[in-house]
Amino acid sequence: MGLDTTAFRSFEPLPGHPDEYCDEDGPEDGEGCYERGHEKVFAYADFPHALDGFPGEPTVSETWGSKFIEKGWVKIDRDNPVGSTHASYSGHGIFRDLLRAAGGWPETADKWDLDVEQIKDLPFFELIWFADNEGTLGPVACAALVDDFEKYRENFIAVTDSTRADWWISLYDDWAECVKGAANTGFIDFH
Ligand SMILES: [Zn+2]
Repeated sequence: MGLDTTAFRSFEPLPGHPDEYCDEDGPEDGEGCYERGHEKVFAYADFPHALDGFPGEPTVSETWGSKFIEKGWVKIDRDNPVGSTHASYSGHGIFRDLLRAAGGWPETADKWDLDVEQIKDLPFFELIWFADNEGTLGPVACAALVDDFEKYRENFIAVTDSTRADWWISLYDDWAECVKGAANTGFIDFH
């Protein structure tokens, strides 16, 4: 179990797609949403920046006590992603702590205590202020992260534990490739 992400360079909106899977009752022709490249665009409601750059106005939904925002469905070229990452959930947590250290974030016991207005311009904000399990990190958020990943690589290496440095730096470079590939026109799918 862990966090997998897959980056796509582009998407095509599917305005007529049903709210739920279009193969909910079983695919008639052997193809479901997954095979057709259909993806739901959504994020936890605390992270509205993630859906900037997708067309339309977000709708709000609630599932199992969590609030989400959604912007319908899009079609992607699933067989041709432009990048991917994999880490355990705890590994992703450590990775984001390293990003905070590399980017000079204020030291706090719990990042969720921070005021979003005061941190939204800090490096890696769009990734740090986001879910660690599911959601869609959209074209504007990815574009904002490109410069951060280019600019803070040396800092990241400096704050990384030397015993596993190669692994963390490789993860960093995978993320850099994802945000660059998805910037402006695509998105990163957290799954
Ligand atoms: Zn579908």
